[in-house]
Amino acid sequence: MFLDKAARPRVKCERQSVDAALCSTGRAHTLGHSRELNIIQEQPRAKDLFLGIDLGGTKIVAGLVDREGRIVSRQHSSTQASKGREIVVRRLIDVASQLLTAEGIDRKQVAAIGVAAPGPIDARSGVVTAPPNLPGWRDVPLGRLIQDELGLSTSLENDGNAAALGEHLFGAGRGADHMIYVTASTGIGGGFILDGCLYRGATGAAAEVGHMTILPHGPRCGCGNRGCLEALASGTAIAREARERVARGAPTLIAELAEGDLNRISAEMVSRAAEGGDAEANEILDQAMIYLGVGMANLVNLFNPRLLVIGGGLTKMGARLFDPVRRIVDRQAFPAAASAVEITRAQLGDDVGLLGAAAVAMTAIRELSG
Ligand SMILES: [Zn+2]
Repeated sequence: MFLDKAARPRVKCERQSVDAALCSTGRAHTLGHSRELNIIQEQPRAKDLFLGIDLGGTKIVAGLVDREGRIVSRQHSSTQASKGREIVVRRLIDVASQLLTAEGIDRKQVAAIGVAAPGPIDARSGVVTAPPNLPGWRDVPLGRLIQDELGLSTSLENDGNAAALGEHLFGAGRGADHMIYVTASTGIGGGFILDGCLYRGATGAAAEVGHMTILPHGPRCGCGNRGCLEALASGTAIAREARERVARGAPTLIAELAEGDLNRISAEMVSRAAEGGDAEANEILDQAMIYLGVGMANLVNLFNPRLLVIGGGLTKMGARLFDPVRRIVDRQAFPAAASAVEITRAQLGDDVGLLGAAAVAMTAIRELSG
């Protein structure tokens, strides 16, 4: 006998929640969510706010977010990563604390805290392992530090996973149980929602979309390998290719836009030059979008998603990005997978970090309540 198609993912997901398999109830015990769950069960309507904290390399943004993804209040601060982790953690706690003590906010309304932080992260134990853009951080138990200080259960995810959850709960991916989120910006990252659950992999290292190899002998990537998607199609890769062409003396508007200064060349400049009809700039973008499309076709073949949500700065190019990606997915992926996938632009824009962090908190609570 066959199960109803629509019911299958839900059944599987609930079982995973209970067994602490994929939906990480294990983390809940480590960080003491169980006690929080009891409180929620006693007061089901009181806790309708989530405190999201987006910890970036240059900026910390925190906000109180309701269940529909509306930002009720927000605070921000510079990260000052170079001053070391104690200072950064202090600033982060101060920003969150200001939100909780602000006039008009009843702390009892806040259900939990979610943090989006640069990876790699051990989400189950709430430990930030060794993020490249936070110097001096090694195995920092950030979840525990925040929880002890603010007295609210705290969950962590890397920024790609958090953004995927944010788009899934509040943005372009609402209602999509099979969704791949990709951010194409200075780097390329992502997060996978499979069967309605965030997929972290065996050790939390899944969804490194930017580091799938596209060209084995291609340009060197920041991770040390060659020809990663990020080294071929990110904003950084586009700017690097433009710099190389300008340095070789290629006839292009980009040199003028950068006023002859190679270091000023950015992907945004390349995009502007391309819009102005510049042949070199158009070639650079064509090439980068082919690689991005190949990467997306690989994901479509691997995961057969219903929805591929692409966010990040490069999506400001609109059809210049989405048209070639769609074309290549249709050409390269298997017809059954290509025809099933809608490719769409992310909706949360610059708030994706903050709303993603709030979604991390909301998801942790939902997983606990089964
Ligand atoms: Zn790489």
